[in-house]
Amino acid sequence: MTTTSQLHRYLKVLGLEEKTLQVGEGTYRGIYATRPFRAGEDVFPKGEQQQPMASVLCHEERQERCGECLRLGNDSLQRCGGCRQVWYCGVGCQRRAWKEHHGVMCRGPLAELEMSGPSKTEGELVRRTMLALERPDDSRREWPGLEKEAFLRLDTHWEAQGSQERTEARALARWIMATRALGSSSTMGTTGSSEEEEEIMGHVFRLRSSAFAPADLQCFPYAAMSSYPARGALLNHSCRPTSVALWDGGNGQVVRVMEDMEVGEEMTLSYVDPCLNGPDRRKALGLQYHFTCECSRCLEEKEGETGVNGNGALTKKGIQEMSEMISKDDDLLNGLYMVWSREHFEDWRRETVQRVCRISRGEGSEVLFLVSRWVPGWTREFERALDDSEWEVALTYALLLLLIYLLIYPRRHPIVLLQWLTVCKCATQMARGMGREYDRGKILSLALRSLHLVQSSLPISLCEADPEVRELRRQVQGLAEDLDDLSTGS
Ligand SMILES: [Zn+2]
Ligand SMILES: [Zn+2]
Ligand SMILES: [Zn+2]
Repeated sequence: MTTTSQLHRYLKVLGLEEKTLQVGEGTYRGIYATRPFRAGEDVFPKGEQQQPMASVLCHEERQERCGECLRLGNDSLQRCGGCRQVWYCGVGCQRRAWKEHHGVMCRGPLAELEMSGPSKTEGELVRRTMLALERPDDSRREWPGLEKEAFLRLDTHWEAQGSQERTEARALARWIMATRALGSSSTMGTTGSSEEEEEIMGHVFRLRSSAFAPADLQCFPYAAMSSYPARGALLNHSCRPTSVALWDGGNGQVVRVMEDMEVGEEMTLSYVDPCLNGPDRRKALGLQYHFTCECSRCLEEKEGETGVNGNGALTKKGIQEMSEMISKDDDLLNGLYMVWSREHFEDWRRETVQRVCRISRGEGSEVLFLVSRWVPGWTREFERALDDSEWEVALTYALLLLLIYLLIYPRRHPIVLLQWLTVCKCATQMARGMGREYDRGKILSLALRSLHLVQSSLPISLCEADPEVRELRRQVQGLAEDLDDLSTGS
């Protein structure tokens, strides 16, 4: 278990302690803001500490991404001539991989021992983690040593592991012990003892409750597993998280603050998808992370105070809140008023609330009923409008979908921001095709606001490197200049 004093040291080595973050008092470990944070800021510094301690690309993805840095290959990946099972983006990645793990794994273990499915990926992650643990410390730098220590301090939850978990972990440990024997010419360091087996099982359990699945810019996981024991894994869980873990296009982890934060607030991540309903979230947290969540959202749900009650159905108060939330969101309202009149919008809002009331009373609804009821239909309408270049219709559906995402995810969750980006695209297209200058100005201001929200909160790689976003920014700026010219009468 990581203690408070160890967390202090991690933060100090990261250059963070006191300036920006501090560790909570008492036995409850956690990381707190010591200065205000703005939405879109990064919690940890950039640099070598962003890289995972160990990382494995799933077997099915091997011809798509570099096996070392996980970046997309674009047809230029080079296959390892030894095992012919791993692909790299270039010599740099291949050399690093060889030095750190592949030199041991290449011919023997990978080629000769076949394990299919996800357990092979897991087995490789455990093996690479062990190789990282065995690497000698660098006397000039504290970081790699500290990362190792952070990993070994992670809880194995040994007592809480069920018999199936133990059986799986034991099978993995035996596979690793066999690969170790194959990988070295002697059996040095390989005792094959039950102590060794238990030690490896401990690593399996530590990784199961701390490894991350890196995701691309659209928030789809890469089918890889990566471990960041002294970075993202230091943050506690909340079902109403303050921060989100993102990746820089490869396996470099970025932990980004989603809402403005006050001094003294705790930095948290959600270990499970926050769109799951309460019972599903708590079940997943119990099975994989071995704790009962008592975050503010879970407590409110148990009391029936938030949007959903313990069974996942919307409560009366939840409906009220949803209705109020829609009325208070300035950006969203401005967008909706642009495509609808205020009266039309108010009618729609009343009808929506009534519909929600009807649905939540009958049919034992889930919180995800919003998604299952409306999202597929709205998405179909949105796509049809896109195909027909009906930008006003497309914008309306993009805003409606945004509304649903806002009910499920925190305000600046990447899923929400990606939807804002869609709103921006539709608004830009609509403004371009419009003749009436007054409306064009309103639509354009929605596009500008959307682009600004996205740029200030999404990963840098998306905003700076994504050609689509660069092009969009150019278009929005071009439209804004046109409009300036018109309004000044030139
Ligand atoms: Zn690479
Ligand atoms: Zn190889
Ligand atoms: Zn919770």
